Formats: sequence, structure tokens, C-alpha cells
Amino acid sequence: MNVLLLGSGGREHALAWKLAQSPLLGQLYASPGNPGIAQEAGVVALNAADHGEIAAFCRDKSIDLVVIGPEAPLVEGLGDALRAQDILVFGPNRVPAQLEGSKGFTKELCARRGIPTARFVRAGSQKEAEAALQDFGLPVVIKADGLAAGKGVIIAETADEARAAVATMFDGTFGAAGASVVIEEFLTGEEASFFAITDGKTVVPFGSAQDHKRVGDGDTGPNTGGMGAYSPARVLTPELERRVLGEIVQPTVDALAAEGTPFSGVLYAGLMLTAEGPKLIEYNARFGDPECQVLMMRLESDLLALMLATAKGELAGAEPPSFSDRTALTVVMAANGYPGTPDKGGAISGIERVHGAKVFHAGTALEDGRLVANGGRVLNVTALGGTIRDAQEAAYKAVAAIDFPSGFYRRDIGWREVARQAG
Ligand code: ATP
Repeated sequence: MNVLLLGSGGREHALAWKLAQSPLLGQLYASPGNPGIAQEAGVVALNAADHGEIAAFCRDKSIDLVVIGPEAPLVEGLGDALRAQDILVFGPNRVPAQLEGSKGFTKELCARRGIPTARFVRAGSQKEAEAALQDFGLPVVIKADGLAAGKGVIIAETADEARAAVATMFDGTFGAAGASVVIEEFLTGEEASFFAITDGKTVVPFGSAQDHKRVGDGDTGPNTGGMGAYSPARVLTPELERRVLGEIVQPTVDALAAEGTPFSGVLYAGLMLTAEGPKLIEYNARFGDPECQVLMMRLESDLLALMLATAKGELAGAEPPSFSDRTALTVVMAANGYPGTPDKGGAISGIERVHGAKVFHAGTALEDGRLVANGGRVLNVTALGGTIRDAQEAAYKAVAAIDFPSGFYRRDIGWREVARQAG
């Protein structure tokens, strides 16, 4: 069976690595890929925004399944375009991908279905948004409705900050993403991510993780795409997972099916574990990056079989995924300057010296045969261990073996779990 994987990050390297282990796989292609993905797949240059080009490639190469890694092509309707040509796709169509593409869409669905989430108002103008601020205490959370690469959320501590945040949302800073805003109540608790695979009817839990959004040790400095992650997030106990599935994820999947726009793919629920129980912060319509890397490290079953069953709508009859009980942890090595403008072209060496960990490539490139940095997040050094401490030790030992003088990394990935286990 031939597969086309779209994307170029550490997430896609992890997916390619796992897909390549499947006995069902014939040829794996990836676009645009990266030098790590190229070790697992034939890398081709396709334009994911050109749906006709992707469909033509699929026909030409007899592609049986297209796996869409990032959110943008999903929100732009690549899934619909391929399904219209009878090509199997792992990833939702345009409308259900609005769970990620529009925060207002998700909040309104939660309101219709009684799904626990922060109290909110959706506002379409600055005036409306300013008026809505009166209904909330402080801090208050102000979000651009559309995709803003993790930068469209402002937590305002004072009334002045809240007004300024609303003004920023409507001054064009966020482009179309800021055409409407969601204002919501600030929730307190611990955050965790829960993943589920669904074919639109059957929902199968697919593990949990916690990430580290801030750039600096001790969760300081600006937000990033994620500086590291680990799985499982033991704070999500089996009892809490059952609640998340029953109160949040399954009702969401059922609502979309009932409304004629079923969600097929992976649903990633960002949760706040509040004193009142788990509440939904956001949905993503694809795997997290770097959460995917730790999930793939723990996954013991055949990813391709599972994706295929999902794409065909046959998840009810499929073997449920099995995961290692061990903990996986990934450390992101980033280029200096990230999350601002990262230094490009910095030399990387020593990956071949790494043992006992898997190095996923994110922003790398080959220049005259030399591996160099070519993005903000560059490598994801990922290890398994019997405990979080073992996983941490193995990952940082591997990080130490890699020579990347123009890069940096956080030294405390997993701290929360380590502290929890220390009691
Ligand atoms: P991401 O980069 O995670 O995709 P995003 O732009 O989609 O981010 P959200 O996940 O909705 O936005 O919010 C980003 C972060 O802001 C959350 O991970 C959480 O830390 C914080 N946050 C969002 N909503 C709330 C809330 N209601 N109460 C407290 N914190 C919140």
C-alpha cells in the first residue's frame, strides 16, 4: 500500500518513522519533508495548497492513503478535495476542521451540547468585545477566532490590558484570524492534552501528553510551538480520561456527525483540569508537535492499519491501539533567536553518536551534504524510560552527544511529572 504524508516537521518525521514500520506499507512518499523524513520516505515537492496537484500525484503513484500532518491544509479543505476523488485521507474535512480553525465554532458547539468549557462571548466588532469585557472578571482571556499559530491568545491581567488586547485583535495584527474574537473566563488548574482517533462514529483513546510552551526553564519567557513534551500525562488518571471521553470528546464527535459533518482523523483536546473537573480549552484537528513524537515512541501497534481503518470508517472493527507503559519524553533543540527570528544555517553534527534515543528532525536542511538548522525548532530528541526520570536522563544524554553550537534547549522538560512523582 502506498502512502503520501504531507508536512515537514518533527511530527511528520515521527509519523513517517512509525508508518515505515508497518508491514502493510509499500512506498511512502512525503512532501515537502525534511532530511530526517527522507530517511524513511521518498521526498517530493508538492504544493499542498494546490489540491489538483496532490490528487494528480495520488493517481500517478497509486497512493492508497494521504496523511495530512499540519492544520492549514485541513482547514483549507484538502481532505474534501481528495475524498471527492475517492482518495482515502487521514484528517478531517474543512467543516469539522473548524474545531481548530475557528475558536468560536468550537465554543458554540460546546454551548449547544453542554460540553464543559470556559464561559465565553463571541464578538464580531471591537465595540461588542469591549462591552462583553464587563461580564468577565480578571484575568480575562481574549482570543483571535482563527488560526494564529499559537500567538492569538492574550491573557489580560488588568482592565487596561484587556481593552488593549481587544484593540490589537481588531487592528489587523491577526489578519482574517482576528475578524472575530472570543472572550472567555480564565480557568485555573493543570493543563493536559488528550488524543483520540475517530472515524466520525467510533472514538478510540490515543494517549495523553503534557507539553512545555514557554521558551525558558521554569516556564519563563515567551510562548513557543512547544519546547518539549512527555507521555503519558499521569495527571490524567484513568477516571479523568473516562470523563474527558464521555463528557467532552464523544459528545463533540456525535454532534458533528449529527450535523452532517463528521470528523475523521485525530482529535487533540487541550484540557484544563479544574477543581470542577476537566474543561476543554481548545481542539486541534491533527497531532500536536512535539506531542506526536512522544505518542509515536510509545505506540506499539501498526499506525498505518489504524489510519486506514479510520479513513475507511471501519474503526469499530479495528484492533485498538496499544501503547507501551513506559514514559516517552522529547527535548526540542531550537535555533538561537527562536521564537523570534531563528538563526539559519547553523551546523549540526553528532546525531550518529546518539544511542538509546530517537532524533526526529524538525527544521533541518542539507547544505552541500552538511546538516544545518533551517527553522526555529530544529531537532526533537526523544527517549523512552521506565520512569519519567529515566526517560529524561536518556533524552538529555542524547542531547549532550549532539553538537549544535547555534542552538539551545530547555533543561527541565518533564519537571512537573518529576515533581509529582517525588511527592
Ligand atoms: P496552541 O498553540 O495551544 O494551539 P491556541 O492559539 O490554539 O494555542 P489556546 O490553546 O486556546 O490557543 O490557548 C493557548 C494557551 O492559553 C492555553 O494553552 C492556556 O495555557 C491558555 N489559555 C487559553 N484559554 C484559557 C482559559 N480560558 N483560562 C486559562 N488559560 C487559558
